[in-house]
Amino acid sequence: MPLMTPEQYEESLRKLKLKVYLQGELVSNPVDHPIIRPSMNSVKMTYALAQEPQYEDLMLATSHLNGSRINRFTHLHQNSDDLVKKVKMQRLLGQKTASCFQRCVGMDAMNAVDSVTFEMDRKLGTNYHERFIKFLTRVQDKDWTVDGAMTDPKGDRSLSPSKQADLDLFVHIVEKRADGIVVSGAKAHQTGALNSHAILVMPTISMGKEDADYALSFATPVDAEGIYYIYGRQSCDTRKLEGGSIDVGNSQFGGHEVLMVFDNLFVPWENVFMCGEYEFSGLLVERFAGYHRQSYGGCKVGVGDVLIGAVALATEYSGSSRASHVKDKLIEMIHLNETLYGCGIACSAEGCPTASGTYLIDLLLANVCKQNVTRFPYEIARLAEDLAGGLMVTMPSEKDLRHPEIGKIVEKYLKGVATVPTEDRMRILRLIENITLGTAAVGYRTESMHGAGSPQAQRIMISRQGNLEQKKELAKAIACIAGK
Ligand code: SF4
Ligand code: FE
Repeated sequence: MPLMTPEQYEESLRKLKLKVYLQGELVSNPVDHPIIRPSMNSVKMTYALAQEPQYEDLMLATSHLNGSRINRFTHLHQNSDDLVKKVKMQRLLGQKTASCFQRCVGMDAMNAVDSVTFEMDRKLGTNYHERFIKFLTRVQDKDWTVDGAMTDPKGDRSLSPSKQADLDLFVHIVEKRADGIVVSGAKAHQTGALNSHAILVMPTISMGKEDADYALSFATPVDAEGIYYIYGRQSCDTRKLEGGSIDVGNSQFGGHEVLMVFDNLFVPWENVFMCGEYEFSGLLVERFAGYHRQSYGGCKVGVGDVLIGAVALATEYSGSSRASHVKDKLIEMIHLNETLYGCGIACSAEGCPTASGTYLIDLLLANVCKQNVTRFPYEIARLAEDLAGGLMVTMPSEKDLRHPEIGKIVEKYLKGVATVPTEDRMRILRLIENITLGTAAVGYRTESMHGAGSPQAQRIMISRQGNLEQKKELAKAIACIAGK
């Protein structure tokens, strides 16, 4: 079976020669860097759960290429059951890591590139799909983590790519050669890039004819010459440098985003999947975004499960859990969280095949899913802060708790219910802080807003897919209005 163990995965990352800057310094060993390592642990979990028989049905799939058992993160969805299982797998991983586990971006990119290259070849007579399938075969055989890369920096939003003062603000072709292409530019907010083996690049917006040089899709090794990474800051990230395990809130897991820079990167033709076919750029953006909007109906729900559990415990530890308003707020949090899950499942169950055979989610429902994700985690977080109380952000540090003299004082005055150790209360409050305000808030809050496209992007898709004309006809029929 082409499956890596978690240990083999970690070792495979150690062999990479990544060029990473973090807080102004080159990182020689990203795998063991205290700020980066928790994010590696989250991706490692996608390998670990795949080894466990109880999760086999969700974590593994059968390759449509050669029938072998593969990690679902490298799979192309062959039916709507695959789409449903994808969402369930993401919820499971959100529950196990309470953070972004990063591997979905590549899965979503591969599913989108598959169907778009197939349709592009059929219309234009190109051979991108065959190249892509060779790449996918390598990914499945080696059980790689792939990082999907879509978002360009974009510079002045009022100008198209070719009108920017600095042309590098969108990834573009610098040179076409007999053996491949040379590209420059950058991708922003790149989730999990340093924990990946390969990058799958897509265009960031629908391109017009004048921007054909920006209609690009290709794959590249993460450590190719001509790529480097600048690590994104997260709130409270340097708490990971302090030692201890309480103040970080989640000492084991996390996510990361980087600015990924292509400086005259060479890509051989075999890894190029779109090169100037601007009329297909919008379709690729739409499909990738659709899959990733579905994804949020799984991953954010799993993190939400942990947050709701943490809040329930915090109320028990403080003795407030029996108050009726507390119970009601927890019910509201569950209701909101399950509504997101309902949308994730619904857009999956309503999936249908594309021309290549790969299944696509229902785009309207996937966009409704993500639109809700731009709101509900914020309300869940608001309720979490309400129930957790102010102590979550005012309590002393772990070092104070461990101090030979004032430790006793911290222990005494932070006590809630007599039977619960103060340390447990601090741990659960720090976990809530981590998800709502700390490093994990990148994934749970701001990413809920902007990840897979900002709210307005979904509203545009909802207006396109909403079929208002048909709804008007329905109303006319009921109201007995004849004619147009
Ligand atoms: Fe996966 Fe969610 Fe992270 Fe996107 S935000 S990579 S869907 S865990
Ligand atoms: Fe995301």
